[in-house]
Amino acid sequence: MKRFVDLRSSDTGYRFAWFDTITEQFERHSGTMCWDTWSDFESDFQGEPLSDNLERYRGLTPKWAFEHPEKEEVILKAFNVTSEAQRPNSTKPTCFYCAQPIGGLHKSDCILLRKLVRVRAVVEYTTEVPAFWDKDNIEYLLEETAYPSDHFCKDLTRSMENGEEYLDFTYLCDTSRPFLKEGNA
Ligand SMILES: [Zn+2]
Repeated sequence: MKRFVDLRSSDTGYRFAWFDTITEQFERHSGTMCWDTWSDFESDFQGEPLSDNLERYRGLTPKWAFEHPEKEEVILKAFNVTSEAQRPNSTKPTCFYCAQPIGGLHKSDCILLRKLVRVRAVVEYTTEVPAFWDKDNIEYLLEETAYPSDHFCKDLTRSMENGEEYLDFTYLCDTSRPFLKEGNA
């Protein structure tokens, strides 16, 4: 027997999982054990050989799991304001940033709610090398040897000061769920 497990009030950050009452274990599909929505589950499940069983799961899944969670709701539920969010030396018992009271919940657009994201940076800058070096020498230096990161930073800083750098950033994806960063933690 499969059992749908509602995780919405857990602190896992996910919304549901599947429990197998025969093996007495949470099920794992494509390496994942909990999901936010049916479509997340479906894509993990369909990566597996027994994907024709999917309909058995569908019938056991409540309606809310087919819908995307209200992101704001997830965040608001999770993050209480503590005294760490006060301005240093302030006697005002609120978050310094979103003004919500200690014991209440941070607003969803409070800057203390953080996430990690992956970005790609394309960088062009000027560096100095021996004059006889060609493309291969130069790329070897930069990629294969321990081109010290402080040299890289100095080269880049100098190029920026001279206005000759080129930077282009691309957002790739979120790599974490929202988390709270109060105080100096
Ligand atoms: Zn706040």
